[in-house]
Amino acid sequence: MPTSSLRSAEETVATASSPESTSLVFSQPPRVRLLSDILPDDPLLMMGAGPVPIPDVVAHANSVVINHLGSTMSTIISQVKQMAGYVFQTKSEWVLGVAGPGSAAMEMAICNLVSPGRKMLAVVNGFFSARMAEMAKRLGADVVVYEVDGHRAASAESVERAIEQHKPDVLTIVQGETSNTVFNRELPAIAKAAKRHGCLVVVDAVCTLSTMPLQMDDWQIDAVITGGQKGLSSIPGVSLIAFSNTAWEYISQRQTPNTHWVLDAKLAENFWHKGSYHYTAPVSGVLALHEALRLVCAETLPVRFARHSRSSFALQNGIEAMGLRLFTSPSSRLNSVVGITVPDGLSNTELCAHISDRYRVEISGSFGLPIVRIGQMGEQCRAHNLFRTLHALGSSMRDLGAKVDMPASMATLEYSLGGQS
Ligand SMILES: *Cc1c(COP(=O)(O)O)cnc(C)c1O
Repeated sequence: MPTSSLRSAEETVATASSPESTSLVFSQPPRVRLLSDILPDDPLLMMGAGPVPIPDVVAHANSVVINHLGSTMSTIISQVKQMAGYVFQTKSEWVLGVAGPGSAAMEMAICNLVSPGRKMLAVVNGFFSARMAEMAKRLGADVVVYEVDGHRAASAESVERAIEQHKPDVLTIVQGETSNTVFNRELPAIAKAAKRHGCLVVVDAVCTLSTMPLQMDDWQIDAVITGGQKGLSSIPGVSLIAFSNTAWEYISQRQTPNTHWVLDAKLAENFWHKGSYHYTAPVSGVLALHEALRLVCAETLPVRFARHSRSSFALQNGIEAMGLRLFTSPSSRLNSVVGITVPDGLSNTELCAHISDRYRVEISGSFGLPIVRIGQMGEQCRAHNLFRTLHALGSSMRDLGAKVDMPASMATLEYSLGGQS
């Protein structure tokens, strides 16, 4: 034992408070740059695959701290649940918030509905749908991966055949696969097929929720997950999940305890439904989410969906008019994130760096694919953002030596928007 720990308490206090003390050795605090020196003066326009720009009311709410328990919070939680129910299009009361990224909501869905030995069929079109399979494997579930190759949507017919063959307890699927811009258009039929076989359906709607229709109750989905920083235009780090009554029944009567304490839905119920403590909620982030949801409700879903499709199609038309190619074929193409094939001789990393440095517009590369991605989620779908982004994209391509038709592109964008913002 070191001698210092043998000293009496009095001696330690005396030594610690003495300015001449030499017994406690502190390392030096680091010298860091000020945030104002690190953050750009001219802010970047966030047009990648998330996080997306947030409205001022969301940013303001995110700067407020209140008690995480008590009547004020309880009113806010109740409103968040009501508004989220509208956004999910569900009457289920089992709507909960999650402190964590979209992946935490994803893991919450998986760890509450899947346990060792349970069979899960994971429809995998790309990176994020594969993540659900990975989470279930780590839980010790019996996971069958149904892989859809070639950056295409899953067909309901073939997924139903896989369900018949494997008889899973749970099916996981992504509505929009952000990584390669594939849209599982046949999700409603796939969910219904799963339900015909008594299988619970988990849908990752992280990039699609509030950008395109998702009818949780009508389509008989058992768990929908989303993050804050995409379609909802809130901050990253506070997410939402909704369980159907059927899913909740399973959770309530399951015998094996959930190995994820923080993500245990029955414990989360304490906070989200009973006004008591589970863990300290990210209050500022919940307030931000409240405001983001309120804006969705004020806009209404049909109007919001129309804005998203108008904006995304206008962008897609503008990109094609420039002479570039969209990555996914029209029948599998996602509107919430647009994937553009990078012309031969250009690298997507170089393109993303250039458009960011020179034009202050941030877009995304991808996970090993020769594409760049432009988001069309929430606040990204505004005419002024489209003009700036398309101009920046074309100019960057030109700067880097690609041949593009800028006038045709900008005119097509203008025409496709039809005078709407
Ligand atoms: C972004 C995204 C995720 C992961 O969300 P995080 O907040 O990064 O954890 C999962 N699924 C889809 C479809 C996404 O777009």
